[in-house]
Amino acid sequence: MQYVSTRAAASAASQSPQQFSDILLGGLAPDGGLYLPTEYPQVTGAELDAWRKLSYAELAFEILKKFATDIPEADLKALTAKTYTAGVYRNAREGESSAEITPLRVLEESKGKKLVLQALSNGPTLAFKDMAMQLLGNLFEYALAKKNAELNIFGATSGDTGSAAEYAMRGKKGIRVFMLSPHKKMSAFQTAQMFSLQDPNIFNIAVEGVFDDCQDMVKAVSNDLPFKAKQKIGTVNSINWARVVAQVVYYFRGYLAATTSNDQKVSFTVPSGNFGNICAGHIARMMGLPIDKLVAATNENDVLDEFFRTGVYRVRKSAETYHTSSPSMDISKASNFERFIYDLVGRDADRTRALFTKVETHGGFDLSGYPGSDGDEFTKVAQYGFKSGKSTHQDRLDTIRDVADDYGIVIDTHTADGIKVARENMEAGVTMIVLETALAAKFNETILEALGEDAERPAGFENIEALEQRFVVMPADVAKMKDYIASNTGL
Ligand SMILES: *Cc1c(COP(=O)(O)O)cnc(C)c1O
Repeated sequence: MQYVSTRAAASAASQSPQQFSDILLGGLAPDGGLYLPTEYPQVTGAELDAWRKLSYAELAFEILKKFATDIPEADLKALTAKTYTAGVYRNAREGESSAEITPLRVLEESKGKKLVLQALSNGPTLAFKDMAMQLLGNLFEYALAKKNAELNIFGATSGDTGSAAEYAMRGKKGIRVFMLSPHKKMSAFQTAQMFSLQDPNIFNIAVEGVFDDCQDMVKAVSNDLPFKAKQKIGTVNSINWARVVAQVVYYFRGYLAATTSNDQKVSFTVPSGNFGNICAGHIARMMGLPIDKLVAATNENDVLDEFFRTGVYRVRKSAETYHTSSPSMDISKASNFERFIYDLVGRDADRTRALFTKVETHGGFDLSGYPGSDGDEFTKVAQYGFKSGKSTHQDRLDTIRDVADDYGIVIDTHTADGIKVARENMEAGVTMIVLETALAAKFNETILEALGEDAERPAGFENIEALEQRFVVMPADVAKMKDYIASNTGL
């Protein structure tokens, strides 16, 4: 299996295809594109039949080995077994076995329509990002040990991604994490989750400023190429290919758990921000998994909904990005979207490059086919199964209340956006699976507003605010930041 950049013209000899391990530790391709396999591996009906009986870890191995062909199978099997175990994924809710990792729960079934929730938040940080990040931690440690190399992950977070990365990398040999967060701007729960980690390879840096200041410092440090090379700086952002592949696995698991034969189809509704999660669904569908519709659910930041309704992709400026009660979907530009557009335009790298160059210069592109537009590929979107919808703060409150009243469970705000949009897209005879992206405890402020009571916390999280915290406070000063990193890496 080889990988190419979405912007690499076949003629560009410098862009030779890469193996899985070559792109594992990186982010963007050197030409600014994203990596994709030269073709999607296909699954047969016989494979699907056999996979129905597998545990999550075994299924992850079967799927990963189609993409990571340069990692010896025995090693890959050990890595997936170590990642997807009950020790990492707790039994977060009564009645769900942690051995299942991503159990389904039927919410409603009437007149041939069935609505199902797939739990993805049983990992250490109570959000679906653990599903991929935990595997990434083990893959990174494995790859670095082979090369006798080390990596210093440097990033900025406003909440979910930073904590998922720290819990995945804590205690890993050859890896340090330097994570910036805006001082006193995260919720008490999120702060406690990150800052209570005492592992010597985790460095929490509270920056006196807002999230954008943290982001700017990461850019400034990353643009200093000699420093970046000397300090072996890397990232773990959502465009990382291994993260996308790890997410493909739970679409297969959800399909296999919801069906009894491969003649049946299911649809998925996915709370979406950077298009990473639903991009994995697209890849599962391209591999031959019988997915009918892939429904992207957005909040008030509706860049993706606008595209799937009109064919116009129009990114927002950060000042136009709303701060909502489903904050992990507050994005102005969907960083994984280029992977889908590459497929949509017939894997034409020149055209993909032109379209995304236009995103930089003109803030977007238009594939509606109307006079003056950049193309008419919007007519093909339906062939890929994509649909979309949007949800607002009021919808979230209403959905959280409805779901609590009707089914007796408390869902988080992002999952509420998913359920709201899923209900608008149900069809008789096709099970609709909504991906749960976080547990309610992480977004308690809105649960209180909707229900008048606190969200339940899973065991072990009752008192995390009282744990001892380990972090440093620093000004938004790039030179001081570099000194801090260098003094702690000793490089
Ligand atoms: C990251 C995140 C999302 C959005 O996922 P994308 O892959 O960026 O589309 C949705 N919900 C929660 C809780 C998240 O943490």
